[in-house]
Amino acid sequence: MSNNDTLFQRAQLSTPGGVNSPVRAFRSVGGTPRFIQRAEGAHFWDADDKKYIDYIGSWGPAILGHAHPEVIQAVQEAAARGLSFGAPTEGEILMAEEICKLVPSIEQVRLVSSGTEATMSALRLARGATKRDKIIKFEGCYHGHADSLLVKAGSGLLTFGNPTSAGVPEDFTKHTLVLDYNNCEQLEAAFKEFGDQIACVIVEPVAGNMNLIKATPSFLETMRRLCDDFGSILIFDEVMCGFRVALGGAQSIYNITPDLTALGKVIGGGLPVAAFGGKASIMKHLAPLGGVYQAGTLSGNPVAVAAGLTTLKLIQAPDFYSHLSAQTKRLADGFNAIGQKHGLDFCADSIGGMFGIYFNSKVPTSYAEMMNSKNSAFNQFFHLMLDQGVYLAPSAFEAGFVSIAHNNDIIDDTLRLTDEALSELK
Ligand code: PLP
Repeated sequence: MSNNDTLFQRAQLSTPGGVNSPVRAFRSVGGTPRFIQRAEGAHFWDADDKKYIDYIGSWGPAILGHAHPEVIQAVQEAAARGLSFGAPTEGEILMAEEICKLVPSIEQVRLVSSGTEATMSALRLARGATKRDKIIKFEGCYHGHADSLLVKAGSGLLTFGNPTSAGVPEDFTKHTLVLDYNNCEQLEAAFKEFGDQIACVIVEPVAGNMNLIKATPSFLETMRRLCDDFGSILIFDEVMCGFRVALGGAQSIYNITPDLTALGKVIGGGLPVAAFGGKASIMKHLAPLGGVYQAGTLSGNPVAVAAGLTTLKLIQAPDFYSHLSAQTKRLADGFNAIGQKHGLDFCADSIGGMFGIYFNSKVPTSYAEMMNSKNSAFNQFFHLMLDQGVYLAPSAFEAGFVSIAHNNDIIDDTLRLTDEALSELK
């Protein structure tokens, strides 16, 4: 029995499913999850000391590669000064200033510890500021596990959603309208019917939770216009794509200014920092100034902030994003060429340091198209790659992540192994 198998057996005795977040359990691809013991740059090593090229990067945060020496040093120095104070620190000001500088739509920001907290708090703020209850989200977008966001589409267009998780009362989701991603007509119709009751629209401007699907510019422009017309708040959930697709996030690529933005992942550099922020006129509704309550014992934790600040400094290096994007595109272009060579429905897309692999004839633009992917082919491909030491997201419905440490040799190795894996798939 491998060390991974032994650890997995043990883990299942003390932890439900043996993992602390469901997608780690390999539920959709099958098999034993790998227990990671250490990581460096673009690689990590499992409990059997097998080395992998890592394409999940902790599901987004590891944009610099693992264990970047400057980040580790900052964390060690901060830890030596004390782990948590429950009183403000200058580091939190520096972090807020940096976020506001890099994402100009954010005039004020509040730090929290997870993306779930960021989106959940942004929703409460939007509802509190507008004094409205209804919200719009899009099928396939994931915004963390707050009750009113764990919702799938209702049975017909313009019906309110049903909970996708046991334990979420229907009463909690009855104000959540779920629409199709990239469908402007549905958005128009929803606002026509409910516009003056809608507190906010929340969207992943680059969706990374239904594999990778990019918003069309007209989709985001339409929601910006409708939110303006009806006094609703536009929330960009950039927990995944913020500082991942570009320095100013997806909003800088699409040139659309949301009212509120949720951030996470990269801004903590591997430690728990997330944030939500936006117009000062909205943020003033938050406690202690206003009546919308939100708080956190470890919010703005000094050690986590040290990792985040150092990461934010390093990603501002000249050419960081052009290099990251070029490396990721090299990978996606290579996948496409190999798919064509083998005559398989296998293609890829990328933006910044994110990519999608699709067992589809073309890159999907909607949730429905993405769901047409050949899931069983992906699962087989995943295991062929894993055996060869390439760790992809263990689900056909998740995006992949490239770090600045993924150099040409690593990408080319991955492509060579992909070629071999696809030969075996046929
Ligand atoms: N929003 C998006 C777009 C995400 O991808 C995620 C997590 O993957 C979240 C929110 C929730 O973040 P967290 O897992 O830190 O709670």
